[in-house]
Amino acid sequence: MSSADEIKAPPTLRDKLRKLGLTRSTDLVLHLPIRYEDETALTSIATALDGVPLQVEAEVLVVRVSDASGELVLRFLNFYGSQTRQLERARDEAKRLRLFGEIRHGFLGAEMVHPRYRVVAEHEALPQSLTPVYPTTAGVSQAALRKLIVPALAADDLAELLDARWCAQHDLPAYADAVHLLHAPPPGVAENELQLRTHPAWRRIKFDEVLAQQLSLRRSYLARRQKGAPLLKSTGQLARQLLAKLHFALTGAQQRVCAEISHDLDQPYPMQRLLQGDVGSGKTIVAALAACQAIEAGYQAAFMAPTEILAEQHYLKLRTWLEPLGIEVAWLSGSLKKSVRRAMTLQAASTAQLVVGTHVLIQDSVDFARLGLVIVDEQHRFGVAQRLELRKKGGNPHQLMMSATPIPRTLAMSYYADLDVSVLDELPPGRTPIRTKLISDQRRNEVISRVRTTVASGRQVYWVCPLIEESEKLQLQTAIDTHIALCEELGDLRIGLVHGRLRGDEKIATMAAFAAGEIDVLVATTVIEVGVDVANASLMVIEHAERFGLSQLHQLRGRVGRGAHDSVCVLLYQKPLSETARARLKIIFENTDGFEIARQDLHLRGPGEFVGSRQSGVPLLRYADLEVDTDLIELARGMAEYLLREAPDRASQHLKRWLGSREELLKA
Ligand code: ADP
Ligand code: MG
Repeated sequence: MSSADEIKAPPTLRDKLRKLGLTRSTDLVLHLPIRYEDETALTSIATALDGVPLQVEAEVLVVRVSDASGELVLRFLNFYGSQTRQLERARDEAKRLRLFGEIRHGFLGAEMVHPRYRVVAEHEALPQSLTPVYPTTAGVSQAALRKLIVPALAADDLAELLDARWCAQHDLPAYADAVHLLHAPPPGVAENELQLRTHPAWRRIKFDEVLAQQLSLRRSYLARRQKGAPLLKSTGQLARQLLAKLHFALTGAQQRVCAEISHDLDQPYPMQRLLQGDVGSGKTIVAALAACQAIEAGYQAAFMAPTEILAEQHYLKLRTWLEPLGIEVAWLSGSLKKSVRRAMTLQAASTAQLVVGTHVLIQDSVDFARLGLVIVDEQHRFGVAQRLELRKKGGNPHQLMMSATPIPRTLAMSYYADLDVSVLDELPPGRTPIRTKLISDQRRNEVISRVRTTVASGRQVYWVCPLIEESEKLQLQTAIDTHIALCEELGDLRIGLVHGRLRGDEKIATMAAFAAGEIDVLVATTVIEVGVDVANASLMVIEHAERFGLSQLHQLRGRVGRGAHDSVCVLLYQKPLSETARARLKIIFENTDGFEIARQDLHLRGPGEFVGSRQSGVPLLRYADLEVDTDLIELARGMAEYLLREAPDRASQHLKRWLGSREELLKA
């Protein structure tokens, strides 16, 4: 950053500004008001409405002020000596005050608490435009911000980077006009359009912001495409053999996605594809077919899952599918004994054709002989660090990321613009819909008897213990207590327990026993949240469901309804419910489609939560709203492609304007 760009302010103020993300003069230009106050008009005390922000001008009568129409009591919680003297002087000199605030009619008549006020000269004109109110932090006053922003607006380069005709066509004003208008709205501007951020000036700013996000993500996408990747050409022979052995046929969606992936693998640059599919949509077989293509082309495939339980389950499934075709499948996990692990690592480095495991797969000690394809299951569970590590793995393997946390379309289009996205939007046939029941924990007894009848009919049950965010230890204790309690209540049933603190092999043994039908009721923490697939389980009980997030509830519920049996998910909740907990439970009760649930979740929580693990890598949107500004996202996508192709210099200038030095951080 050139020092000319830097904000000129004393060091202490500069530190505080940095907290607001303001280091350059351009950052000040783009630090836009959260709202406006209307100081262009005066209201008389007598006609002032309660609770509406307004401005009066009045004479000082000690703690009272009066205008021609009436009196107003001022209340200050901390009244400084200097303030008293200032007000007394104003009174003695018969000067008037302009006060901005909300009036309430209380016991003492009309009063204003903590008004913003200032002494005015006689006949001082009212301001012509709305007063901007900026987001700020402790120790940086509105006045200080305004004093910095006005010169920044004058000095900063506000050059237009987009084609003026194109902007006019889309009703977007010029950049310079937009920022000037938003910092100092002229008289007569449609105030509610400003407040609601639907004014064309706001739309221009939001467009520019989304454009910066698209440019940054598309640019790193294109950069990764510059790298060569193994060509995974195949005749499809191996995949066909696998398909012939399955006891089901692919759904239309699976066939379409398989074709997309197969096409990508055939390209000389690495695939960067996100496969989204709701819980149970059949992502695993799609991944296995992709692996077949890599293997037939003479390369290795790696299949990584976020938990031991899931990785092991994939290992078993993939072995039964692929070993009969003569494919060597290896297993690698952190809980293997050292000697076994060393042997497996050697195998990965040499003969293994498919290696399944947890994130140990991407650790430095594991060297693949000729890695062609990396498959990441439940990718949202991996952190940024692991994603980076994966990118660093040699040979630029193709990447297939899979996720069962459906990302709403607008979110996928914006925050995931650096990936190609495939969607499995069809569930395999023959699934019976899961019935969801909301039951207060006062009726726990009824649930216990439902567990009995379920087991009596030969089915199995998951019992999920409450999530305790603050303490893993407490959560563990609750799981143990619940297990003891259920053993007492259901003494004649076989009850297992699985939680995060068990050793890897213990977890796996318990899950295997449950899968084999040797356990009737599995008491579990959220370790079973993702991927676990036991078709005979038909009842899921979730205790304290009000503590779980929506996507978690959806994932957990997806553990049942995997076979042809009638399945039920019981959400036990404890009263009283908070407003948001009630909203969440209502959504999960009324919806089974993961995309619809995700859309409503986005509405409830905003995008921050969805992109949590991507946060450090992706510029979050400050101004644009994914729900409201969908059309702008579409427009910006097209513009980003165009600029990167036709005017890369302007693309860079735009990125610099919006992201400044932060852009370096976004390469991840
Ligand atoms: P997810 O997308 O949640 O990972 P899975 O891959 O675990 O789903 O698939 C869920 C279940 O559906 C598995 O038992 C799988 O074998 C089965 N399955 C997958 N595709 C089909 C299909 N086309 N027809 C029938 N069953 C299928
Ligand atoms: Mg899965």
